[in-house]
Amino acid sequence: MALAVEEQSLAIRAMAAADEISQRRLDRIASHLRATSLMKDEQLAAEVCAAAAKVSKRPVSVSVLTHLMAGGYPEDRQKVLDFFLKRPDLETPVEITKEQHRELAYKQLLAIVREAGVNPMKYLMEDPGQYFALLEAVGYIDMSLAIKLGVQFSLWGGSVVNLGTQKHRDKYLEGISTLRYPGCFAMTELHHGSNVQGIQTTATFDCMSDEFIINTPNEGATKWWIGNAAVHGKFATVFAQLCLPSPDSHLDTNMGVHAFIVPIRSLEDHAVLPGIEIRDCGYKVGLNGVDNGALRFHDVRIPRDNLLNRFGDVSRDGKYTSILPTINKRFAATLGELVGGRVGLAYGSVGVLKAAATIAIRYSLIRQQFGPPNQPEISILDYQSQQQKLMPLLSCAYAFHFATEYLVEKYGEMKKTHDDEVIADVHALSAGLKAYITSYTARALNTCRESCGGHGYAAVNRFGGLRNDHDIFQTFEGDNTVLLQQVAADLLKQYKAKFEGGALSVTWDYLRNSMGTYLSQTNPVVTHRDGHAHLRDPHFQLDAFQYRTARLLHTAALRLRKHSKRLGSFGAWNRCLNHLLTLAESHIESVILAKFIDAVDGCEDKDTKKVLNLVRDLYALDRIWKDIGTYRNQDYVAPNKAKAIHRLVEWLSFEVRGVAGSLVDGFAIPDSLLRAPIGLQSGQYSEYSHYVGFD
Ligand SMILES: Cc1cc2nc3c(=O)[nH]c(=O)nc-3n(C[C@H](O)[C@H](O)[C@H](O)COP(=O)(O)OP(=O)(O)OC[C@H]3O[C@@H](n4cnc5c(N)ncnc54)[C@H](O)[C@@H]3O)c2cc1C
Repeated sequence: MALAVEEQSLAIRAMAAADEISQRRLDRIASHLRATSLMKDEQLAAEVCAAAAKVSKRPVSVSVLTHLMAGGYPEDRQKVLDFFLKRPDLETPVEITKEQHRELAYKQLLAIVREAGVNPMKYLMEDPGQYFALLEAVGYIDMSLAIKLGVQFSLWGGSVVNLGTQKHRDKYLEGISTLRYPGCFAMTELHHGSNVQGIQTTATFDCMSDEFIINTPNEGATKWWIGNAAVHGKFATVFAQLCLPSPDSHLDTNMGVHAFIVPIRSLEDHAVLPGIEIRDCGYKVGLNGVDNGALRFHDVRIPRDNLLNRFGDVSRDGKYTSILPTINKRFAATLGELVGGRVGLAYGSVGVLKAAATIAIRYSLIRQQFGPPNQPEISILDYQSQQQKLMPLLSCAYAFHFATEYLVEKYGEMKKTHDDEVIADVHALSAGLKAYITSYTARALNTCRESCGGHGYAAVNRFGGLRNDHDIFQTFEGDNTVLLQQVAADLLKQYKAKFEGGALSVTWDYLRNSMGTYLSQTNPVVTHRDGHAHLRDPHFQLDAFQYRTARLLHTAALRLRKHSKRLGSFGAWNRCLNHLLTLAESHIESVILAKFIDAVDGCEDKDTKKVLNLVRDLYALDRIWKDIGTYRNQDYVAPNKAKAIHRLVEWLSFEVRGVAGSLVDGFAIPDSLLRAPIGLQSGQYSEYSHYVGFD
């Protein structure tokens, strides 16, 4: 009874919130009309201050940029965005409780699938690029929605499709696609997160009943953080140690981590099923629209068929078979099938960076503080310090965009061809780009907030929400520090293969050349060259990035060999850990730059290409400048050259500032989704004033 009253009051509050949102929409339109005259004043002021600061204005076409940055599937994105534009009741308000947010996120997800006619599961299986484009678009609507969508389709759906076999797809796919079967992905436990092989939940085969018995043997084995578990999930893919009773001993034989489909709530009345305990993980720093829960299992019996048996199976008489010979190989294959989540996070993180950069740069263009004596105030983006904060960040948004487009393309190729070389490449690339980009964006969100001063702190201007929601991107789907180590390990494997005469896989190809070329004596003439033409030559830039990677790789290999004699391989790895992380980041920066160079080369519009060259130069030279100590220490860059690079970074930041407005317009994030009053295309101050209640 108490629950029914509470539900009623929640529903009333949700309706009130929806009414409030509709009212705000109407007010916003009216305020845009009212603001036209004010806007003219603002625009005029911006033009005056731009003139005062002698901004370098280069011709650039926003429509060409938009086309270039739209990636694939612009119509699909637009379809979802248009759908939400017409549904103010689905807009997430600035102030919302955890319970309301969870219900709203679920309602948004249902609406996408059942009303907007979008089938994310089909996209994911048939054309992953289409799926990731959808994920980015819904991320602008509400990050909780994007993550909830990812849990349902990439994680729960993806585990059934990729770890199961046809019988699982036949039984579950339709229910997953239509959300009749909302589900979870239950891997992490209280005591084990990154170390998945250490999980302790057991699935013991019972020959008599032809069932697996799922158990949580101790507190540490409680499944924790499981998305969709606290409220909405009816099934979970549970990762557990598969135990087979041994005929010769009273001890079971552990066959390693496997995945099992476990129903957790009744399909009829949604009641939690017998033997299962579910608790709410509670209020989080962000993403409160996602219902993360903790789960315990007490002798929960599931049919043998519920083992997702693509990489290992158990027969009716309890015999284990697998196409893969060892526990480690099976484990690697199982986790390997789940890289789609990482691809989605890398891609989504670029979307967050674009949104934050758009708000910060648009505001910095109209915001004026101080100026020369007796002259108009200047835009804060005309301060060198503000340019230094925001222009390299803008160049990264462009660079990351092209790199993640490439990642999505490779992921699609991997799913189609199952080619071993492409699989290895996508694994390392998704781990590296996810880690590098999400860490960068997390830092960038702080920079953007701070660069908007006090107004960046208002929740309505979105930095706080984006920062809180995005922060965990650095941890879930693989902690960034752990993922970068996978990249480093892969590079070392490639390095070893090189010296044993093996072929190097696609992305690492440059290392083949680099070992010979870059590690040879650095040429003193080149180390002193400091002309613009040389520094802005993409060959020089890429050589510099790849030289650094090759050198770090070579020295890491030497150090590991030296230390492993005394410390063993684990100890040696730990002794060199910081070096290895730098190596992985350096490699990923090289990949990003290479993809940026390709993308600029492919731009056919002359003026836009010139502007993109500036942006690429800024990305490359700013990264070199940030690590100038390394280049100087190795005499790759002489002091005069280091100074020239620094001056050029400042000049490029100034030049890019002149086209910064067009560059963020090129991201084409509609005002209705960006929502931050200070980040709108026009009428920012009046919209902001209106938000706090002024006419
Ligand atoms: C909001 C949210 C949603 C989630 N959703 C799900 C879900 O739906 N399903 C699911 O199964 N899980 C989920 N997770 C769990 C998530 O995947 C884990 O949190 C993540 O894998 C990291 O594990 P951990 O938290 O145990 O961190 P730990 O592994 O304990 O890491 C803690 C720290 O130790 C460091 N560290 C660990 N190992 C190493 C190493 N080898 N070398 C150097 N440093 C190391 C890390 O860098 C990190 O700084 C979710 C988590 C959150 C917070």
